[in-house]
Amino acid sequence: MRRVLITGAAGFLGSHLCDRFIKEGYHVIGMDNFITGDKKNLSHLEGNPNFEFIEHDVTEFISIEGGLDYILHFASPASPIDYLKIPIQTLKVGSLGTHNLLGLAKAKKARILIASTSEVYGDPLVHPQTEDYYGNVNTIGPRGVYDEAKRFQESITMAYHRFHGLETRIVRIFNTYGPKMRLNDGRVIPAFMGQALRGEDLTIFGDGSQTRSFCYVDDQVEGIYRLLLSDYSYPVNIGNPYEITIKDFAEEIIKLTGTNQKIIYKKLPQDDPLQRQPNISLAKKILGWEPKIERDEGMLKTYNYFKSMSKEDLHKRDH
Ligand code: NAD
Ligand code: UDP
Repeated sequence: MRRVLITGAAGFLGSHLCDRFIKEGYHVIGMDNFITGDKKNLSHLEGNPNFEFIEHDVTEFISIEGGLDYILHFASPASPIDYLKIPIQTLKVGSLGTHNLLGLAKAKKARILIASTSEVYGDPLVHPQTEDYYGNVNTIGPRGVYDEAKRFQESITMAYHRFHGLETRIVRIFNTYGPKMRLNDGRVIPAFMGQALRGEDLTIFGDGSQTRSFCYVDDQVEGIYRLLLSDYSYPVNIGNPYEITIKDFAEEIIKLTGTNQKIIYKKLPQDDPLQRQPNISLAKKILGWEPKIERDEGMLKTYNYFKSMSKEDLHKRDH
């Protein structure tokens, strides 16, 4: 049985990846320190003989018994409020954590895929973003802790590839959503849905003219799976190119949820990118991948997930 280590397993994407790899017949080892994740995301795998879980901070030395075929490094705070709250851990997991995992991959002769992000493009001056764009990141701004951790992560991964001949893959993930996101992680979809469900006004940051392009989690997982099994070592954008302004998006959510609440406007956070849309030509060409799930369908599935939460969980303010 092929064995895969998935870090960040108790988080949103990590837990979906665990499910996918188990479904594909792998033995999955999940690793997480729960800093932004939730045990509940993995509770359905308890007792599954093809799944084991190790509670561990990946910035500390990692020891795994037995062989490994693949490593997927997804551990990292991922939402702006999380990485602003824990900036040093964010820098450490992208740098020291990635270094540990690359060392482990080398020792086990495993192929490693690391989760990078559209944030490596910063507030982009090229639109839509192609993989050959170097980005526009404010290194010393508050978001820099995440963006630069991820940029370092890409650099050290390429260095291991070039210097040690390690088999590496880099996915640049664009805004992805779906069930198992944390309701209070501050990202726009859980934020708006939580507000609608609690009967609060929807908070738009800035004037809402900034854009994002949202990818449903199943499409994202499919892209990641194909990239891992491909022979391409350079970064690949995986995301849904369907771009929308945050204002139009808030209106879509008001319609979907049937809430009577209104939109209120708050200050735009510093360095919040004004526009973001992936160019996915490369993924189409080398992976034969493109997203299949329309926003209507993905949003409904996500809304049903949040709607099924207990009143207590819906009103819990903090993680
Ligand atoms: P998440 O917060 O739901 O999951 C991250 C997981 O990593 C959590 O379970 C957390 O506890 C764990 N973690 C953090 N630091 C750790 C450490 N030092 N040791 C062990 N575990 C640690 O976030 P997510 O949305 O699932 O994101 C997963 C990965 O994908 C991240 O690397 C993120 O940067 C990347 N990504 C996500 C998106 C997106 O839209 N969801 C976009 C771009 C990149
Ligand atoms: N946003 C918003 N209201 C909220 C949360 C987010 O208007 O309650 C905006 C945010 O300023 C950004 C966009 O929605 O322009 C997407 O934010 P998110 O945190 O989801 O992701 P990121 O900025 O990392 O793409």
